[in-house]
Amino acid sequence: MCIFCKIANGEIATNYLYESEQVLAFNDLAPQAPTHILVIPRAHYENAAELAAADSATMSELFAAGRGLAAKLDLDGYRITFNTGANAGQSVFHAHMHLLGGRPFAWPPG
Ligand code: 5GP
Ligand code: ZN
Repeated sequence: MCIFCKIANGEIATNYLYESEQVLAFNDLAPQAPTHILVIPRAHYENAAELAAADSATMSELFAAGRGLAAKLDLDGYRITFNTGANAGQSVFHAHMHLLGGRPFAWPPG
């Protein structure tokens, strides 16, 4: 079972910042910004494209959760990222949305 499935089923104890029937949010283990939250579907999909193809309602719920957290944390601008595929920097192959904030971000990304 993958690491995010273990976080979703409680095998790895994790403080959820948001949870619903389909979606969970928790802090990234290695934060790249003062706020670095991961929002994931409870169900296992390899990446965001697979999730969007199979369950667009849950995909939109990830964005809604991100918007809600950004508002709750009063982020002054934020970045949402789905690294999709190893070449784009994906290292955990369970779909997840990064919500980053609390500092300025450069463009283009590295
Ligand atoms: P990716 O590189 O796949 O886009 O993002 C995976 C993210 O998951 C990384 O930012 C990494 O720090 C985070 N991560 C990996 N393992 C764990 C873990 O066990 N717990 C938490 N909270 N984050 C993790
Ligand atoms: Zn998984």
